[in-house]
Amino acid sequence: MLPVIYHPIYSNFPLPDGHRYPLQKYQLLKTHIDSERWPVETFEPTLLNSDTLKSIHDPDYVNALMSGELPLVKMRRIGFPWSKNLIHRSLTSLGGTTLTVDKAIEHGVAIHLTGGYHHAHYDFGSGFCLFNDLILAANHALSYPHIEKVMIVDCDVHQGDGTAALAKNRSDIITLSVHCDKNFPSRKPESDIDLPLPIGTDSDSYLREFLPCLTIALAQHQPDMVIYDAGVDIHVDDELGYLSVCQSGIGQRDQAVFSACQDHQIPVAAVIGGGYRTDQETLVPLHAELVLSALQTYYPLSGT
Ligand SMILES: [Zn+2]
Repeated sequence: MLPVIYHPIYSNFPLPDGHRYPLQKYQLLKTHIDSERWPVETFEPTLLNSDTLKSIHDPDYVNALMSGELPLVKMRRIGFPWSKNLIHRSLTSLGGTTLTVDKAIEHGVAIHLTGGYHHAHYDFGSGFCLFNDLILAANHALSYPHIEKVMIVDCDVHQGDGTAALAKNRSDIITLSVHCDKNFPSRKPESDIDLPLPIGTDSDSYLREFLPCLTIALAQHQPDMVIYDAGVDIHVDDELGYLSVCQSGIGQRDQAVFSACQDHQIPVAAVIGGGYRTDQETLVPLHAELVLSALQTYYPLSGT
């Protein structure tokens, strides 16, 4: 059974009416997966210890955010109003990405039904990201004796600026970001590998650029683990992304990542990443492509 990591708190923290963060999509996605009766086993994460955050983030930033004393201007940059539930939700989702790593190492693949906080930097958060789960999860993977190098494959439409900055001087974390060149963030610190794509890139062009890039990156760096940010904000109808990839293109991208990792026997921990539509139901089939691709690649006899 495919390990899926989820907690009901993902869709449960206070946001003002009309806020563009798709709070309900996590719950909607979980309900969809359950209703399809796919062969998945769900695991519920516990909160990440806040001391662990200080291994990658400024302790003053961590303390201020935990206690609700972060200046308003810095909260605005994150994009959420502070609440105890927000912190609780954040620590649970960070625990979720590290649990996804554990399950991926055990089973070859695991999927987290949130995650991908790639805009969180050392001493500030931005773009709905408080703390960087991808780097925390990479460090967690590296605590296993047989894992010496982790590659973060970030396919969210927005460049992984926080991840790139936090991994800048790390030879044990390789960062690959495929993104729209004219999207947020405006300042893009260099990843190990950046693949900027022009506004309007369609499915065929996207896959023609990304697939060889992935093949070369895996061959060159030979990671022992992949953490995959499968953001669907590359979709043509996304409200915060400027690419023009269709649902089938998203499925082909996800399948290509899983197939490549399976061919190289690299465990892959996937997070669903970004995806922004006012009608959050329309995001569900896009994120479900990740689950379907994993099932088709790793559990081909499951009848999906
Ligand atoms: Zn994004």
